[in-house]
Amino acid sequence: MTATPDSAIPHAAENRVIEPLYAEILRRNQGEKEFHQAVREVLETLGPVLAQRPEFVDARIIERITEPERQLIFRVPWSDDSGDIHVNRGFRVEFSSSLGPYKGGLRFHPSVNLGIVKFLGFEQIFKNALTGMPIGGGKGGSDFDPKGRSDAEIMRFCQSFMTELHRHLGEYTDVPAGDIGVGGREIGFLFGQYKRITNRFESGVLTGKGLGWGGALVRTEATGYGCVLFTAEMLRSRGESLDGQRIAVSGSGNVAIYAIEKAQQLGATVITCSDSDGYVVDEKGIDLALLKEIKEAGRGRVAEYAERRAEAVFVPGTGVWNVPCDVALPCATQNELHEADALTLVRNGVKAVAEGANMPTTPEAVRVLQEAGVAFAPGKAANAGGVATSALEMQQNASRDSWTFSHTEERLAEIMRHIHDSCYTTAERYGRPGNYVVGANIAGFELVADAMLAQGLI
Ligand code: GLU
Repeated sequence: MTATPDSAIPHAAENRVIEPLYAEILRRNQGEKEFHQAVREVLETLGPVLAQRPEFVDARIIERITEPERQLIFRVPWSDDSGDIHVNRGFRVEFSSSLGPYKGGLRFHPSVNLGIVKFLGFEQIFKNALTGMPIGGGKGGSDFDPKGRSDAEIMRFCQSFMTELHRHLGEYTDVPAGDIGVGGREIGFLFGQYKRITNRFESGVLTGKGLGWGGALVRTEATGYGCVLFTAEMLRSRGESLDGQRIAVSGSGNVAIYAIEKAQQLGATVITCSDSDGYVVDEKGIDLALLKEIKEAGRGRVAEYAERRAEAVFVPGTGVWNVPCDVALPCATQNELHEADALTLVRNGVKAVAEGANMPTTPEAVRVLQEAGVAFAPGKAANAGGVATSALEMQQNASRDSWTFSHTEERLAEIMRHIHDSCYTTAERYGRPGNYVVGANIAGFELVADAMLAQGLI
């Protein structure tokens, strides 16, 4: 295999099993660069497990796990408030049902294409396995841009999207939730249309629902809270805590806001947040009530935060990782923390980096952080609290029950500790102590691969 940037597997160059498999995946999925990146990152770490478990190779587990069980692409026509017609593309990639119904969010963003949905769906398989909950992996979305759209336009889009997607869903089949651009409002419109078409109040078909109609307490907070709880566990394993640490957060959506909240509860000072226009530095610590008012209530921009708070400055453009910090939590989007950023973070003495978003750190940046001895938590472990709490929501829906905030938060904390410990011990078992990427990939992979072996050639 020639070593082009797209095909190089530096740490596995010697691995004769994985290299040709990866070359074949590149050939069959051309142009899907984020999917290639996500697959490569997993395959690079699987050498030792494939050597110890040759039955996985014989059963062609890698070839099967990298090929979605089903890929849906559909037209989503809708009309805007002035009557003009728009056509978007809808996706749902049902990747793996080995451990349970397909589970994973929907992303509405103009960048969405098949490669992005497949990268997210592939990551979701391992993330969901790590939670220890009975959920398979899937992901979906659309290239629809919700920015600047009225509530009525969002509703018509969601109704059109669900008019096609409903036939593929079900509480035992496929259970979507939110992701970038899909929050409580969108889940409400999607659920309403599903209910109308099917004539079933099937609450377990979507998660992230409103609290009055089947939603679960803590689901809104869960991804951000979970990411910080995971970071606290990583620091604890190194004899440290979050108390008194300076934290840089990127993003200002659902994940970032609740990561900031939990970090502050644990005694840390969060000094940054960002959006696609730029970032805010607030040395006194982010005023979360103000940020929530701007982002959650007003759907505004972080520049407004700096306008309204004397202590804060707004810096246009990228560069949030130049702000010196002890802990960095990338909570915006994929490939937002590059090699140069990682070098800056290391130079500034960062101790831990945990991914609140999916794959925000480029492979080169991960390498820089790991080689410098920084504790690095990949998204499939660190941001699994969101989907884990979705599984708790499904449990409550199945038993027509609703749990208290404190009970649900305790379950989330237990799950994050479990994920941390299984990544930690798996990395040790395979001779890579402290390497959470290896630990997460192998621990997740083993669970799914064992189920695939047991369920036969399907
Ligand atoms: N979109 C979230 C994720 O990346 C949540 C998925 C879910 O709750 O199903 O894990």
